[in-house]
Amino acid sequence: MLTVENLSVSYGPVRALDSVSLSAAPGEITAVLGANGAGKTTLLRAISGLVRPTAGSVSLAGRDLARVSTEDLPALGLAQVPEGRGVLAELTVEENLRLGALGSGSRATARQLRRIYDLFPVLADRKSGLAHVLSGGERQMLVIGRALLSRPKVLLLDEPSLGLAPRIVARIFDLLRGLVRDEGLAVVLVEQNARSALSIADHGVVLNLGEVVVRRAAADLVADDDLRHAYLGF
Ligand code: ATP
Repeated sequence: MLTVENLSVSYGPVRALDSVSLSAAPGEITAVLGANGAGKTTLLRAISGLVRPTAGSVSLAGRDLARVSTEDLPALGLAQVPEGRGVLAELTVEENLRLGALGSGSRATARQLRRIYDLFPVLADRKSGLAHVLSGGERQMLVIGRALLSRPKVLLLDEPSLGLAPRIVARIFDLLRGLVRDEGLAVVLVEQNARSALSIADHGVVLNLGEVVVRRAAADLVADDDLRHAYLGF
């Protein structure tokens, strides 16, 4: 579905990504792990065209994304949840969700809103309230819900667990796993929280200084004490 081949990115003299390849298939979660500065965010930004690669390619369902502008990606089925849980604080929860609707008709949007409220009942409870009163976990659900409103086939998530209590992370990750299973979504999950990410991922890719240093089935990565200690810190 999403295929990244030999992608390289430089910021001036800094080589942030060096010939990185990975793929994300329907019904699977690929966790991209690695320390601060490993290149994880750069990888997502390069996939969505926010930085221009110096080499390599990204394709979605066989279509080369080099010629597709970032704002057209949702219509092609690629949605991204950037780091930082940005919501429009002075809009209501439902108004924030509607921003993900891509100008689809009101009936289709209403149907997608019901789907999101089924997935995240806490958003339904708070739909008329302003987004700024939400907790961190609720905000994360809101930005994921907003990305899902366009019914993407591929979802890119940047550090959704950052700063959230372990109990909330577990809840959000359980929801993600269910969504991937039930809807056949393909997910690229960038995380520093390797333990949580690998608990729901099918595949693990570890970046170090912009290069892929490990690529394994998630269960094998967790089971390998040496790799875990060397790269994942748990
Ligand atoms: P973090 O978890 O801190 O976000 P990361 O794994 O996502 O880290 P990146 O943010 O992709 O890593 O950074 C990769 C490298 O590129 C780092 O050396 C970083 O300092 C550098 N870098 C990132 N953005 C820029 C930029 N806009 N200009 C110059 N260098 C940058």
